Amino acid sequence: MSSYVPQSAVTVVGLGPMGRALAAAFLAAGVRTTVWNRTPGRDTELIERGALGARTLEEAVAASPLTVVCVVNYDASDALLRPAAVTAALKGRTLVNLSADTPDRARSTGRWAAEHGIPYLDGAIMTPTGVIGTPDGVFLHSGPTELYERHRPVLDALGGTHTHLGEEIGRAAAYDIALLDIFWTAMTGYMHALALARAEGVFARELAPFAKGIGAILPPIFEEAAGEVDDGTFSGEGNPITSAASTMAHVIHASEAHGIEAGVMRAAEGLARRVIARGHGGDGATRMVELLGLGLGHR
Ligand code: NDP
Repeated sequence: MSSYVPQSAVTVVGLGPMGRALAAAFLAAGVRTTVWNRTPGRDTELIERGALGARTLEEAVAASPLTVVCVVNYDASDALLRPAAVTAALKGRTLVNLSADTPDRARSTGRWAAEHGIPYLDGAIMTPTGVIGTPDGVFLHSGPTELYERHRPVLDALGGTHTHLGEEIGRAAAYDIALLDIFWTAMTGYMHALALARAEGVFARELAPFAKGIGAILPPIFEEAAGEVDDGTFSGEGNPITSAASTMAHVIHASEAHGIEAGVMRAAEGLARRVIARGHGGDGATRMVELLGLGLGHR
């Protein structure tokens, strides 16, 4: 491999569906792209499209000033990056970890990187593989501003919107886990709704247009609720939590009558009932946030 390392060069470590999408987007944008994956053979199509392969991870890392790692979680990225030879190869180069995990894992990776002289940015991808390389991709980043600005031109090759959330290294992961909380509870709710609808003889495709309608009413509700939570107003005007708890109970009863477990909705209804028991039945669902921890002194 040539010892010349152009600035517009990147190494992508991890060639699952997302890593492959990232590498393909870099290649399409004309960035010199070296790829590596734990299990061999996942790089074949990328190499056919112009990516450079590497015999070892150390060699892959040494090929670029910037390495982007995207694997299942930080146990996996630690397993790849913490062996001495790889850590040594990363020294003085920039590492961007776009794998998902908790903010504390991002922070411990930040400490490890600092101890080993590895400039480090943490990040999160908030959109599916199909939109990587298009204007619809959403990427969150955190870490040193100067480092982010320096590598921004290469990161921009991924397309989409890149937001630097600040220097605190755990901040991108903090947004990521909160946003995943929305996504997976919503998806679980949707899967449950499809099961319940089928039990009532309604096909998923029949329900879907109305399910999309529920999705469409959420953005203004999200915005208003955010304001109420930050301002501590918890207004239940138009939809007090007593009414919400009642409709949640309908879902539970109808599900269980069909023998469909309703644990997720039971948990939601339980929260609503605790809010009511504390004397806040006239307030909105935003009071749940207080119950869950706002009162514990979190910022
Ligand atoms: P996966 O989350 O399944 O990750 C697969 C990658 O992780 C492969 O490269 C795999 O290597 C590697 N890996 C798994 N275990 C280990 C290990 N113990 N040691 C080393 N490498 C390991 O698929 P994706 O590519 O889709 O996701 C990658 C990251 O991107 C995840 O954190 C995910 O949450 C995030 N993401 C994914 C999205 C998506 O739509 N796919 C959307 C937004 C974020 P091998 O091939 O050798 O098994």
